[in-house]
Amino acid sequence: MARILVVEDEPDIAMMLSVDLRLEGHDVETVADGHAALQRGLESGWDLIVLDVMLPGKDGFDVCRELRKAGTRTPVILLTARTHEAEKIMGLDLGADDYITKPFNPRELRARIRAVLRRTSTDLGEIVRFGDVEILQARGEVRAKGRPVELTPVEFRLLLALARNSGRVLSRDRIIDLAWGPETYITERAVDAHIVNLRRKIEPDAAAPRHIISVRGMGYRFDE
Ligand code: CA
Repeated sequence: MARILVVEDEPDIAMMLSVDLRLEGHDVETVADGHAALQRGLESGWDLIVLDVMLPGKDGFDVCRELRKAGTRTPVILLTARTHEAEKIMGLDLGADDYITKPFNPRELRARIRAVLRRTSTDLGEIVRFGDVEILQARGEVRAKGRPVELTPVEFRLLLALARNSGRVLSRDRIIDLAWGPETYITERAVDAHIVNLRRKIEPDAAAPRHIISVRGMGYRFDE
């Protein structure tokens, strides 16, 4: 199945997670602090990192940010103990793919993990072009004016979902289905936050979007 790095400093939760994920057939390793998380997370070969936010050494936000800055595209699911933190997370542009609030139901976490793994293992095929932007599907790369654009895995899926439905208005629900998968629990505000980040990366002028257009009361439309 998948190779998963679990980063959690609370021994009971770390143990519960690793037993649970091994029962699912995954290969699991655990680390308990932020520095070890960054060091191990930078290694190749992980299919997923489950990353606690409150950690000794370096917090999960910094670990996630630094992994992305170093070019690591491994999907990350953040574990947060605080509900008010959760809403913030997706807007922070940390590069996380999803988050789950503690205390969590193991079944819910398993569903999220399955959804993230399914999304990231999809084979993506040809090249999509619009304006100055190219999406190299099989390579998971995006270029603008010939230069690579750093997108998180979720931003990549989101852009691809929009671009493949060019000219059509997509509701936020439909966007969630296409970019995250039908079994995920993403808020509409989180979709909006990802759109803002994506515009900043691919639009010639993020303040006056040319490609990702808001359609009031309906959702978003992609224009080539
Ligand atoms: Ca913790």
